[in-house]
Amino acid sequence: MRWTKMMINTLREDPGDAEIDSHKLLVRAGLVKKLAGGLYTFLPLGLRSLHKVERIVREEMDATGAQEILMPILQPAELWRQTGRWDTMGANMFRLTDRADHQMAMGPTAEEEVTDLMAGIVSSYRQLPVTVYQIQTKFRDETRPRFGLMRSKEFIMKDAYSFDVDAEAADKTYWTMYHAYERIFARCGLKATPVQADGGDMGDSMTHEFHALADAGEDGIAFCEGCGYAANLEKAQCRVDAAAGAPCPPAEEIHTPGAKTIAQVSSFMGVPGDAFVKSLVYVADGTPVMVCVPGDRDVNEVKVRRHLGAKTVALADYDTVLAATGANAGSVGPVRPADAKLRIVADQSLKGATGRIVGANRDDYHLKNVDLARDAVIADADYADLVTVREGDLCAQCGRPMTIRRGIEVGQVFKLGTKYTDAFKAVYKNDQLQERVMVMGCYGVGVTRTLQAVIEQSHDKDGIIWPASVAPFQVVIDLLDPEDEAVAGIAFDLEARLEAQGIDAVVDDRLERPGVKFKDADLIGFPVRVVVGAKGLAKGGVEVKGRAQPKEAMRLVAPDAAADAIRELLCA
Ligand SMILES: [Zn+2]
Repeated sequence: MRWTKMMINTLREDPGDAEIDSHKLLVRAGLVKKLAGGLYTFLPLGLRSLHKVERIVREEMDATGAQEILMPILQPAELWRQTGRWDTMGANMFRLTDRADHQMAMGPTAEEEVTDLMAGIVSSYRQLPVTVYQIQTKFRDETRPRFGLMRSKEFIMKDAYSFDVDAEAADKTYWTMYHAYERIFARCGLKATPVQADGGDMGDSMTHEFHALADAGEDGIAFCEGCGYAANLEKAQCRVDAAAGAPCPPAEEIHTPGAKTIAQVSSFMGVPGDAFVKSLVYVADGTPVMVCVPGDRDVNEVKVRRHLGAKTVALADYDTVLAATGANAGSVGPVRPADAKLRIVADQSLKGATGRIVGANRDDYHLKNVDLARDAVIADADYADLVTVREGDLCAQCGRPMTIRRGIEVGQVFKLGTKYTDAFKAVYKNDQLQERVMVMGCYGVGVTRTLQAVIEQSHDKDGIIWPASVAPFQVVIDLLDPEDEAVAGIAFDLEARLEAQGIDAVVDDRLERPGVKFKDADLIGFPVRVVVGAKGLAKGGVEVKGRAQPKEAMRLVAPDAAADAIRELLCA
């Protein structure tokens, strides 16, 4: 391919809205161009890389026996009503109404659609197991699209769905997919780590997320070097040593005028934050609930929702807090709330805690010497793991301190059980001709996100450093004297030889200064650069260098030996 025949649009300046390196580089290297917030056009170079990621995904899915299908993006609302998700998906789902007044969704995912499909096709155990997948555009009405392809309104996903005869068979499929995902990300040159995650809206059983570790990642992940435990912060648990407090004198009210936050009360009283109990009022499925955690910890709303078995959990408004406790936020606590029926739940580390300071449920007052077992009304079963793990917390499995790192979620595997197959009566007849419900799993790869995650993990100050497997071209041939026929002949001959060996190359045949060509080659990040010029040929050859190598690694090789030298670098 000749550079001058391709639409390659590199930029010298970072885009104004880009916050992270991979977003800047995607745009500056001319891989994508922004249409509007959260919407990007793939330009020829970017599309080449995207197709390579898709090919890897396809090959690994096919290798597991999964079969490719393509389902409509537009999905009738009736499908979503059947599982209740038409309501629970909320504002994230793009919805529209056709001219006949039928409501539709622009698919953010396709569990309903695929279960409806399979319910109509599978009737016998002989047709199982079966896994189908598609590589399809998905939609999400992001509140704040950002980070380029990471959080966009439209993105490409590979979504796969498995159907098995029972939970045991579904378990096997789950791990087959898990290992296929390890291979997909490794082949894309991505360091992706599987971590335990919360099933959230999708189902209640086991799920793993695959995260590309990167400082720019939006998700926090707790790691234990000791035993290898890894979980995202929504899910991560830690070991708790029982508080086992000493007996304390009766609780005593103290005036704390104007002190609303833990930090303010703590400095007002001159005691550390962990002496306090932080109490927050939430509304869970319409009912107020007080959640108590140690003063220096954060409430984990996912854990609260899970403990309460609620669909939604959100902080209560001003009036609700006052009605439930008798005070405004800042003075509320787990002792004598105005609403005697208010359910109070507390983090497990507070069980048996004594000598704590809590809000008095009276504006501008706190209580000290609080013994939670004696003074608060918290059922034994309502002490649960409700805090977000932080750096240094002890691993729940082995007790060693954990570290917190950042990750970009690039894939997820879920065991769905029968949540969807029940809703759609997706049944089969077993060998006794008895009806059974199929057991499901679902498996997603963010294809466009994976592409950007590769860049986030692999770049330097000059540009992208593509892994050979997903680079737009594996080789750039910088032709320094395009008007010299003999020199140009050597460059194009090398390109043809590489192509014959299945190595794609682009010849930079522009009438530009060498400096401009080198800058663009580094910015776009082709894995290998070859310089073909009259000066080098006079010295006996062409210059070959890997993008990740330092300048000194540049080798002068005879034109005939160049293809071998390039192949060596690509395989390294
Ligand atoms: Zn551990």
